[in-house]
Amino acid sequence: MTHQPGSSKEEVASGLFGPYLLNEYEINHNLVGGEIGVYAVGFTGKDGVFYIDRVGRSEKTLAETLKKFEGIYKEFKFMFYATEKASFEKECDLFHLFKPRDNIAHPKGPKGTRLKCPTCGL
Ligand SMILES: [Zn+2]
Repeated sequence: MTHQPGSSKEEVASGLFGPYLLNEYEINHNLVGGEIGVYAVGFTGKDGVFYIDRVGRSEKTLAETLKKFEGIYKEFKFMFYATEKASFEKECDLFHLFKPRDNIAHPKGPKGTRLKCPTCGL
């Protein structure tokens, strides 16, 4: 796959597992033992480095959320978290670190909470 302009090179470790091919089989076989978490989707460049086009976190479950991106993005990375708070903070962290091209807006905190972004306070 050729380099896509605007994709964010993972020059610093994201701390996520992967990358895995973004298909139902890989999602079902790798996302075991958790529901809440964050993801990064993108592709591995010719330089062997992962390029991030979008980051986010689980809606209902991380597996269901990732399946929506099948056919849109090529690969994914992920990490499970025990709480919505930890998941949101990691999502913010990734958002500020990589500024992925497909993340138009800043991540929103979980519904019913007043969690703020640890980086910018939004
Ligand atoms: Zn922020």
